Amino acid sequence: MQNFVDQGAARFAALQKPLGLAVDDFLRTSTDHRHLNGVRRLWQASSRRGDFYLRDYTGRYCLGCEQFYADDEHCAEHPAPPEVVTEQNWFFRLSRYSSEILELLESGRIRIEPAARLREVLGFVRAGLSDISVSRPAARSDGWGIPVPGDPGQVIYVWWDALANYLTADPARWTEAAERVHVIGKGILRFHAVYWPALLLSAGERLPDTIFVHDYLTLDGAKISKSAGNTVHPTDLIDRYGTDAVRWWLLREVAPLGDTDFTEARLIARADQELANGLGNLVHRVLSLARRTGRIVPLSPLRTVTGLGERIDAALADFDFRAATGAVVDVIADANRFVEQTRPWTLSGDELDQALGTVVSTCRELATEFSPFLPDGAARLHAQLDRGEPARLYPRLAEGSNRGTSRT
Ligand SMILES: [Zn+2]
Repeated sequence: MQNFVDQGAARFAALQKPLGLAVDDFLRTSTDHRHLNGVRRLWQASSRRGDFYLRDYTGRYCLGCEQFYADDEHCAEHPAPPEVVTEQNWFFRLSRYSSEILELLESGRIRIEPAARLREVLGFVRAGLSDISVSRPAARSDGWGIPVPGDPGQVIYVWWDALANYLTADPARWTEAAERVHVIGKGILRFHAVYWPALLLSAGERLPDTIFVHDYLTLDGAKISKSAGNTVHPTDLIDRYGTDAVRWWLLREVAPLGDTDFTEARLIARADQELANGLGNLVHRVLSLARRTGRIVPLSPLRTVTGLGERIDAALADFDFRAATGAVVDVIADANRFVEQTRPWTLSGDELDQALGTVVSTCRELATEFSPFLPDGAARLHAQLDRGEPARLYPRLAEGSNRGTSRT
């Protein structure tokens, strides 16, 4: 078990560099003392409020989810029928927080995006919240889990323990943040939108502001699963196509609602069309011409750049990554049209300086706006513009093209 967990944690931690992620913290809830102490503190706060009681319980338990389901419910994610489990557990008075949770969700004080997910969770809350089991007999947990303070025969339920990580890693970061935003998969919505706020209300801690819920990826039209053997490893894709191509596909094509189908052909087409051809050609053409003139006159960018930052911000406020990156792609297209129309290769003197200066300034703006999405490519673009070096920004990935070379 320890081995299995160690490997899992290492696999997640190892994704940071290949995916180009800037990670503030990485918490292993099974080994980190910050977490152990934080969970105890939260449990004791709820305990002082009188929110726990002991009860014998029989319920239908899905091992895959580590969750009890009501008699009329089935698990959407695990085909095995829930196991009937009878045990003595500590219960949390979730029912006490029903109306408060409902009010938080209905008022938008806790914002759930997209709206379809809000409706889903409201349906669950309006049906009435029952108290939930929040511990397991220690004997059934193989030594895993945090002992219940004052009752070492029980360990704290894995989800109570897991959710607390947002707060235990660095309490000040949670408490003092201007905004607390969760980004989660649809399978764990109930935990984040109902149980977690209730836990926080009980412990007297600050609530999340926004919960953004994403759907799943399918692969070549089929659900991704280990048993079907059709998993795809992000690091393999990155080895083959590069970090930016993978990030770009995720940003450009994943729908906010509904599953999105991944194919390598789609990743390649998207990167070639927009990165290699759209942006790469623009930069290459204009810097090749600038090399001939030997100078770039600093000028204002194309007017289409005006408001680009605001358009991106507005899209990101709605978690619409396709629209945010689409705004950048629109400017690339406008700049390419400008080059087609002005035909700078037919110009000379001031007219040529004007055309080149305008496009180069536009490219600088693009590099700045690109930086949160594709930090690697953005840094290379800035460097290229500074040096006036007409290198290929992105290689073409499609078969038969110059795969794997980033300089020509
Ligand atoms: Zn399940």
